Amino acid sequence: MRIVVHCCCGPCSIYPFQVLKEKGWEIFALFYNPNIHPLTEYLQRRNAFIEVCKYFDIKYLCMDKDYNPQEYFRLVNFRENNRCFYCYQLRLEKSFYIARRGKFDYFTTTLLYSKFQKHNLIKDLALDMRTGSKVNFYYYDFREGWSIGQEQSKKMGIYRQQYCGCLYSEVERYAKELNS
Ligand code: SF4
Repeated sequence: MRIVVHCCCGPCSIYPFQVLKEKGWEIFALFYNPNIHPLTEYLQRRNAFIEVCKYFDIKYLCMDKDYNPQEYFRLVNFRENNRCFYCYQLRLEKSFYIARRGKFDYFTTTLLYSKFQKHNLIKDLALDMRTGSKVNFYYYDFREGWSIGQEQSKKMGIYRQQYCGCLYSEVERYAKELNS
C-alpha cells in the first residue's frame, strides 16, 4: 500500500515513519507548510525534514514553489482565533490532492504526532475530505510515540523548532520577552 505522509517538520516525522515502515507501507513524504514564518525558519525545518527522510531512506518532495505565505495569511485574515482550522485544511487538502494525482491508496499527516496540535480537529477534517474518493485517510494516534521521537531527534542532532510555525504562534511563544 502506498501512502502520502504530509510532514510538518523533521522531529515530528520520525515516529510516524518508524510506525509506517514497520507496517510495510510504501511512504512518500511531502513537505508543504506555507504557514511557517519566516522563510529562514521554513528552511531550517525543511532541511531537518530532508535529513530524516534520508535517514529512513524515504522518497520525499519539498513543495518550495508552493511556499506562499500570502495564501496562508489570506485564509486566516480576520479569523485568527480559528486559524488552526484553516491552517490544517490548507495543508491537508494539498496532501490529499497529491495523493489523488499520484494514485496513492492513503494519505496521513505527522500533525497527528504532536501533543500540541488539535488532534481531533485534524482527524475529523481529513476524514471528511476523503469522502467519495478512492484515496483514504489513514488515522493513527502517533502521540503514543512522543518520547521515542523526541529522543531520536535529539540523537540525530536535527533542528527542533521552538514554536508551532506561524507568525502568531511565534509571538505567543516569545511574548513574555516583550515585558522582560
Ligand atoms: S498555531 Fe500552528 S497550526 Fe495553528 S495556525 Fe499557527 S502554525 Fe498553523
